[in-house]
Amino acid sequence: MDTSLPKDNRVEVVFTQAISPAHPCTCIAFIITHAHFDHYSGVTTQRDGHYIPAFPNAHCFLGRADWENPETQQALQDPDSEDSHTLGVLHRLGLLELVEGDRELLPGVRIIAAPGESAGHQIVRVHSEGQTLYCLGDLYHHAVEVEQPAWMAQWANPDTTIPAAIPSQRQL
Ligand SMILES: [Zn+2]
Repeated sequence: MDTSLPKDNRVEVVFTQAISPAHPCTCIAFIITHAHFDHYSGVTTQRDGHYIPAFPNAHCFLGRADWENPETQQALQDPDSEDSHTLGVLHRLGLLELVEGDRELLPGVRIIAAPGESAGHQIVRVHSEGQTLYCLGDLYHHAVEVEQPAWMAQWANPDTTIPAAIPSQRQL
């Protein structure tokens, strides 16, 4: 999930060593927690002057509200924008799947809507062999936010982000 930045050439949360651009055939799905560039810019890679999926066999799961965000839609109108070079490419190829609410992706792997950082922000819960892993995206940025929910990253809008994120944090 979350492909980070192209220059990093890595997946931020790695479920197995097989999920990497070096082994693209093994990745069949990845989840973008939210449409902030540092979480999805690596979904494509540039080759011969064109942008192509970094994981050509994988479907990308993005919160519908992030895709339908007016800023995203406006950016997609510009063929030179980062959104056009990334999410737009996947959308044109039918590799972008929009998620509303919660969704069971695979047995034991569930996408959970967690708006706050963005309207379409989502987290992932993985159950396996009696253990549970939560991939939180930007539901939290630092451990201190668990005890101090009103403390948030400096780019967060205190009038919109925090009031939207706190219910998602409480639900978790
Ligand atoms: Zn973010």
